[in-house]
Amino acid sequence: MPFQSLDAAVFDFPEFPPGEVWLAGAGPGDPRLLTLLALHALRTADVIIHDALVDERILTLIRPDATLTLAGKRGGQPSAKQGDINQRLIDLARDNKRVLRLKGGDPFVFGRGGEEALALVDAGVPFRVIPGVTAGLSGLALAGIPATTRDTNHAVILASGHRAVDSGAIADWIRLAQTGQPIVMYMAISNLPGIVAAFLDAGMASETPVAIVCSATTRDERVLETRLGDVVKDAFDGEICAPAIVVVGATAGLRSQFLKTMVRWQ
Ligand code: SAH
Repeated sequence: MPFQSLDAAVFDFPEFPPGEVWLAGAGPGDPRLLTLLALHALRTADVIIHDALVDERILTLIRPDATLTLAGKRGGQPSAKQGDINQRLIDLARDNKRVLRLKGGDPFVFGRGGEEALALVDAGVPFRVIPGVTAGLSGLALAGIPATTRDTNHAVILASGHRAVDSGAIADWIRLAQTGQPIVMYMAISNLPGIVAAFLDAGMASETPVAIVCSATTRDERVLETRLGDVVKDAFDGEICAPAIVVVGATAGLRSQFLKTMVRWQ
């Protein structure tokens, strides 16, 4: 049955008190992956400050008279400084607004939501957290790649590829590779050559399955299935793929089996 009304649901949705900041995750893209709490927040907030990665269809769900502001930080592009975003959240809350800070995926997974929470604590501003569906798990799942199976892995590593080029970081990548567990990487495309070299140095087989899921859960989704030894060449063959999740390890190799009968959501 189509989703009619939040009020018809038996759940209790708290009032959004003026002067509070709600730090929420919007999921990886597909609006149907929003949580009900995030939808409630979108419908009641006075001001929404969102990241560039939040899907446009989600932003249509706000109250018609609410104020919508982009505060995205995308690598390499000029964008609001983190300190300015923090200050804006604090100022709006002190101005007695219902402030919704909406981030892609989960707010506390590589989203600087933790930093914003600390700034709110320092300023004495009350806040709540609305977890979101993180791209590194959901984007892979919907592409036919499970986070774990008992046959392949007993742990999964979520890693940021953002600061991967200095020597300390390379040593970290080598240690992660030595665990033998799948490594799911956010923000890893621009540093991919260095990261892959570290994995090979760590003794990872060049045949290790790799998948790159670009624009996961959106209409532009593309999936590249390859091997560690070929991924750098393959990844930079076509158009730049962003945003993208890269997974290296045995779970990536399960995709071809899953796709035999896995039906895609339309
Ligand atoms: N808080 C977010 C992650 C923010 S970091 C979360 O929990 O998902 C930004 C990175 O997330 C991007 O560089 C990319 O690696 C990943 N990402 C976010 N949305 C994505 C999507 N729809 N498809 C693929 N990767 C995505």
